[in-house]
Amino acid sequence: MEVEQRHQVLRNWDWAAAAVGPALTEALEKSQKQKERDKKRRAAQRKKEQKLQEEQAALVAAELLKRQEQEEVCRQEALRKQAGVCAACGQALWGKPAIDVLGLKCCNSVCVLRVRRSLAAEAALKRLPS
Ligand SMILES: [Zn+2]
Repeated sequence: MEVEQRHQVLRNWDWAAAAVGPALTEALEKSQKQKERDKKRRAAQRKKEQKLQEEQAALVAAELLKRQEQEEVCRQEALRKQAGVCAACGQALWGKPAIDVLGLKCCNSVCVLRVRRSLAAEAALKRLPS
């Protein structure tokens, strides 16, 4: 019982010393202020790094978007080239219903007639004796 009481007193004294703070020396105060400054500096550093990372991520995302857009433009260009042009008027056939005339593509019936006529003329020329 006596030992327990002494412990109790000791605990009370420790608590009082720590909480009320007469034991808080100038050095301790200084070190706490330093800790506070370090904490703030670390927080600022973290914030700076986070901002940098976010900027970098935004840059990467923008770059990716640009590349995707370029790829899309290339894809459209390839499709356009693949679709070819009208054999009669030279108009791009991309996105239009092309009419096939003996392997030649035409954009409309007028061009089909023109191609047929020129093909017939070619055939007639070939038939002429040279
Ligand atoms: Zn045409």
